This record gives sequence, structure tokens and C-alpha cells, in this order.
Amino acid sequence: MASYRAGVLEIVNETPRVNLFRLERPKGFSFVPGQFLMASIDGLYGREGALVKRSYSIASSPLDKDYLELCITRADNGLFSVAMHELDTGDVVNISGPYGVFSLKLPVPENATFIAGGSGIAPIRSMLRTLCSSPAPNAAPNGLRLFYGFRTPHEFIYRDELQGYAKKKKLVLHTTIDAPADNWGGDVGFVPEILPKYSDYAKSDAYICGPPVMVPAAIKVLSGLGFDGKRIYREQW
Ligand SMILES: Cc1cc2nc3c(=O)[nH]c(=O)nc-3n(C[C@H](O)[C@H](O)[C@H](O)COP(=O)(O)OP(=O)(O)OC[C@H]3O[C@@H](n4cnc5c(N)ncnc54)[C@H](O)[C@@H]3O)c2cc1C
Repeated sequence: MASYRAGVLEIVNETPRVNLFRLERPKGFSFVPGQFLMASIDGLYGREGALVKRSYSIASSPLDKDYLELCITRADNGLFSVAMHELDTGDVVNISGPYGVFSLKLPVPENATFIAGGSGIAPIRSMLRTLCSSPAPNAAPNGLRLFYGFRTPHEFIYRDELQGYAKKKKLVLHTTIDAPADNWGGDVGFVPEILPKYSDYAKSDAYICGPPVMVPAAIKVLSGLGFDGKRIYREQW
């Protein structure tokens, strides 16, 4: 797999724990929405003396020709994510890829369901950005539905973009937080719990990405609602 050196073009402090990193997109780096890359930083070695490498889903769309975007949560005492959060524009990240079979199946059926928890929105955002961009090849402008769960209202990643798709009626958006909070108009509860509440949607392809505790629970609920297990695609970390 080819490796590249990618300069950091822009860093956006998206939520208290999540930064969005815009990296130069190397010439010839192609990927399908949903795939991930491996990243390392010069001089960042682990305890065993090996270069630290971590996987990150590509959050941008293949249609974003000039950059790749990563959406990285700063893990408490996390070796690589903390180092990423200390980078500045102009610094360099080593990347290789793309990797992974979690990817958008084209053509997308008229109705597809997306489910994300926390920074699990990264590969889902790549998929939705591709489908909701106009013009986009094989886009299904209607019938896309996203269930997105995060801990508190402050942790709504890609809020403006996702709400924009919903406003333009390209996406039906359901958001949920873990516990009640002031001025919150969405749902409350874990994502799997709210899926049955809106079961009017077509039971076609489903794409799920989130923490290991969320993904199997969501699959169980979807199966109970009549989704075909072979058309449920998943990624977790
Ligand atoms: C396919 C894939 C895609 C991914 N995409 C994303 C993405 O888009 N965004 C994202 O944010 N993450 C993503 N991840 C997760 C990412 O790869 C890293 O695992 C994450 O950033 C944490 O790495 P780290 O080096 O910062 O933390 P690590 O140093 O690996 O530590 C992880 C956690 O374990 C704790 N820990 C470490 N050592 C110990 C110990 N000895 N005892 C107890 N606790 C310990 C740390 O405190 C920390 O909280 C993805 C993972 C996979 C597999």
C-alpha cells in the first residue's frame, strides 16, 4: 500500500474533544466513502520503540479533490490522538491507504439508513457528503435517513452541514443525546433505543459506525424491525 506525506492545511476545533484535520490529498490517493487510512507522525514512537500508527476513517468525500478530512476525538491519555491535537497547520502526517470494506455500496437504493455514535459520524459523513452533494454520481436525493447519537448537545459533530442537508430535504435527521439537557429539541437516549420510535422508514441498506457497545445493539434492533442482516454494514472502534 502506498504511503504519502500529507501537510496539515487546516484544523477546526469542532467540539470540546474533537478536532477536524484537513490534510493535503496526495495525487493518486483514491478511496470509497467509508474507508479509512493509517496515520503516523514523524518521531512519535510507542513504548516498544515502534512508530505509532493509528487508523482513522476518512470523513471527507472523494469529491473533495484537494483535501482529506479526519475527525479525531482526543482520547484521555491517548498516545496518537493527543499528539494529533497538538499539531499545527503546516505540520506533516504520514498516511497510507485506503483500507477497509466498510464502504458505500453503489448505486444506493432510494432509501438508506445511517446510524452513527460520537466520532463514528466520520465515515458516515463521507457517505452523506457524497450522496448529498450536487451534482454527485449515483446520488439518491431522497430517502436518506440518519440517526446520530452523542453525549451532550456540544458534541454534535458536523452540525451545520448535517442540519443543512436536512433543511434541503436531502436527509431525514434524528439526533439524540445520552441524558436530558436544556434547550435540546432532539431525542434523549441511546441510538438503538430511538430506532423503533421512527420505524416508518424502508428496511433497505443500513450503515452503522460507532463504539463497540452501540453497534451490536443497533444491529439487534434493526433485525427486529425487519432489516436484512446481509444489508447491514458496520464499522466500530
Ligand atoms: C477502522 C478504524 C477507524 C477509526 N476511525 C477513527 C476516527 O475517525 N476518529 C477517531 O477519533 N478514532 C478513530 N479510530 C480509533 C483510533 O484508531 C484510535 O484508536 C484512537 O484515536 C485512540 O488512539 P490513541 O493513540 O490516542 O490512544 P491509545 O494510546 O491507543 O489509548 C486508547 C485509550 O486507552 C487508554 N490506555 C492506553 N494504555 C492503557 C493502559 N495500559 N491501561 C489502561 N488504559 C490505557 C488511553 O488512556 C486511551 O484512553 C478508528 C479505529 C479504527 C480501527
